[in-house]
Amino acid sequence: MKIGILSGKGGTGKTTVSASLAALVPSCQYIDCDVEEPNGAIFLKPELKERSPVKVLVPEIDMTKCNLCGHCAKACQFNAIAVVKDNVLVFPEICHHCGACKIACPNNAIKEVERTIGVVEANEDGTFVQGKLDVGEPISIPILTELKKRIKKNTFVILDSPPGASCTVVNSIEGCDYCVLITEPTPFGLHDIKIAVQLVRKMEIPFGVVLNKASNDNRLIHDFCQNEGIEILMEIPFSRKIAEGYSKGILPVENNEMWKEKFTKLYEKIERGARK
Ligand code: SF4
Ligand code: SF4
Repeated sequence: MKIGILSGKGGTGKTTVSASLAALVPSCQYIDCDVEEPNGAIFLKPELKERSPVKVLVPEIDMTKCNLCGHCAKACQFNAIAVVKDNVLVFPEICHHCGACKIACPNNAIKEVERTIGVVEANEDGTFVQGKLDVGEPISIPILTELKKRIKKNTFVILDSPPGASCTVVNSIEGCDYCVLITEPTPFGLHDIKIAVQLVRKMEIPFGVVLNKASNDNRLIHDFCQNEGIEILMEIPFSRKIAEGYSKGILPVENNEMWKEKFTKLYEKIERGARK
């Protein structure tokens, strides 16, 4: 069973929930897809044994064969290649590695060369896997593709998704049997959860909500979920103790029977709600 944990924005407790489940469920696999800021390792403390660079192919121009015809620039949907006065410029950071320019070149002046954009790291048995995008790189899909190749079969797999609702989130939760949407009872939280709900409904993935920093004074998310018929799976109240633990890399389920029980119940609800 594959479950995606997502939130509309960073800092809503997505990693607290993902890593707590990973710490609690025996033999599960945790994959940190938040490749711009993976921090599951801070809490789960894996011994990383494998480090594989993620490479993509980008065009390189042989100017001895190029006649500046411009077909490559016309073929590129992403403006990643431009023909100027007496040169062809390639912008590798925005190249989507589609190979269209190479196909379009009538003079065989384009070859593809490898370029490293990040890394995939894993522990010895592959139960912890994380991706890291190099600083300044804007395209993370190739790293997510590599991460998803590591998904174990017949295992409870937790995909800690990037924040937001962009194509990277779509890519990371594609194929999931259930999604947990994390939010907070604020107007921003409400705005973001609405977008996340639209996304998982469109993708026809069963889902439920975990409400972080819950308070009796604010029913914004409760009202929204009630009107939409969405189950609130668990509430985590605003707690100084949890926040202090987080700052030290300690999960709520560590040495705390009450939170172990609550997260066990969350796991049972996910199992019941997941696509069979
Ligand atoms: S490989 Fe595709 S995205 Fe990259 S420069 Fe060529 S046409 Fe553009
Ligand atoms: S399509 Fe080939 S020959 Fe034409 S400008 Fe591009 S690299 Fe040069």
